[in-house]
Amino acid sequence: MSRTTKHASPGSCPSCGYRFEASTATHGRRAPKVGDLTICIGCQVALQYLSLDPLELEVVDLASFPTDIKVEVAHVQAAIRRAREQAGRAR
Ligand SMILES: [Zn+2]
Repeated sequence: MSRTTKHASPGSCPSCGYRFEASTATHGRRAPKVGDLTICIGCQVALQYLSLDPLELEVVDLASFPTDIKVEVAHVQAAIRRAREQAGRAR
């Protein structure tokens, strides 16, 4: 299994409408499961998998999550912002 999982049925970010065709694990090589968190590459909002097939995601309020999760989410959000800024400068 690779770090990136292609979704059998793509879904959309409920916040910005970005269409998810795949998800990439931040650690190891495993497919997402219901209840996992993910970050939208379009708007960097934190999302939780409600269902994988069909793919359904909901925006989550991180206030109730442990600090280590909030820190990891912030790191991933920053990495996405940096990648998008670099992609913007390359054009
Ligand atoms: Zn989004």
